[in-house]
Amino acid sequence: SRLAISSSTSSLVNSTRSAGRERVINLDHGDPTMYERFWREMGDKTTITIPGWQSLSYLSDVSNICWFLEPEFAREVVRLHKVVGNAVTEGRHIVVGTGSSQLILAALYALSSPDAAEPISVVSAAPYYSSYPSMADYQKSGLYKWAGDAETFDKEGPYIELVTSPNNPDGYRRQAMVNRSQGLLIHDLAYYWPQYTPISSPSDHDLTLFTVSKSTGHAGTRIGWALVKDEEVVKKMTKFIELNTIGVSRDSQFRASKVLKAVSDSCEQENSQDEESFFKYSYKIMAQRWKQLRAVVDAGDMFSLPQFSPAFCIFFGHETEPQPGFIWLKCEGDIEDCESFLRGHKIITRSGKHFGASPKYVRISMLDTDGTFLQLIDRLSAIQERE
Ligand code: PMP
Repeated sequence: SRLAISSSTSSLVNSTRSAGRERVINLDHGDPTMYERFWREMGDKTTITIPGWQSLSYLSDVSNICWFLEPEFAREVVRLHKVVGNAVTEGRHIVVGTGSSQLILAALYALSSPDAAEPISVVSAAPYYSSYPSMADYQKSGLYKWAGDAETFDKEGPYIELVTSPNNPDGYRRQAMVNRSQGLLIHDLAYYWPQYTPISSPSDHDLTLFTVSKSTGHAGTRIGWALVKDEEVVKKMTKFIELNTIGVSRDSQFRASKVLKAVSDSCEQENSQDEESFFKYSYKIMAQRWKQLRAVVDAGDMFSLPQFSPAFCIFFGHETEPQPGFIWLKCEGDIEDCESFLRGHKIITRSGKHFGASPKYVRISMLDTDGTFLQLIDRLSAIQERE
């Protein structure tokens, strides 16, 4: 029995376990399971029932250019941006997508020109979101083509720049990098929410993308939205989605509406009913995680982390810290391939090379369950003690 094991045997058992039989923890993807507890505690507030006879039609609102947009979802998007203060919605059309992934492709299609002599260049500053290059080139489109790091891009003529702020993978706030007037910009603000970064002012761009995946954690609902100024761009994005999936799941839009409504309600009721808003709850978890992470990383000299400055957040009404959804970890010293090094310790991460950066860096998700996060902390701590 376990009690009969002497202390020396038990430490042998433990070290065997850590050397060989430990569970592999996979933090390659940014799967936002961290928010599950909040939504469980909300109980039936976000439960929806859809009778079999409802929403059979492809059409949601034929009076809208984006005819597959549910009016109820559009209302909740506008309301949430007003409550949070992270985006101007006046003078914008909303285009709904199957995740913001579909909207990235719709935007590339809409911003490129079928009559151009050659495909328009698509750039983003390194380290950039690792899906951009493959999204741009997967179908070898004649309309657009991945052209790499925005910082070194010097080709004359029009281009599309993806501006991700705060950035995936490193968490820094960003502005357009290519300093020229012929750029068409796509602002990917998937992480511009108070739990990740101070909300300094409402974003006010021509084409801005958001998603429920990272804001509320409902990645599986597959709903994103674009705020778009130019009506021609709205028409082309709508056309793309029409050709691609003949609209966007109405069931998912109903679910997303209910979730966004619950988030806005939680913010508005916070003061009156002493309840915690979704963002306060998630900010506190992220703060706790970043504190634990910085403590283990600072305890040794093997790894380093990005450093951020606090700033005033108009949502919380005080200074907050940036606390990204990903760790952009650097292996210091002579470890050249941080991904393989950590894989050797059963931590699966994504190498910096996928983000146009050095393999000394890896991206690690901060949005997993408490259990997985604590295992990550334990392992990083053990590695620093051992090496
Ligand atoms: N943009 C960025 C910067 C992301 O990190 C992600 C998800 N990892 C997406 C877009 C796509 O998200 P989704 O399709 O789930 O909305």
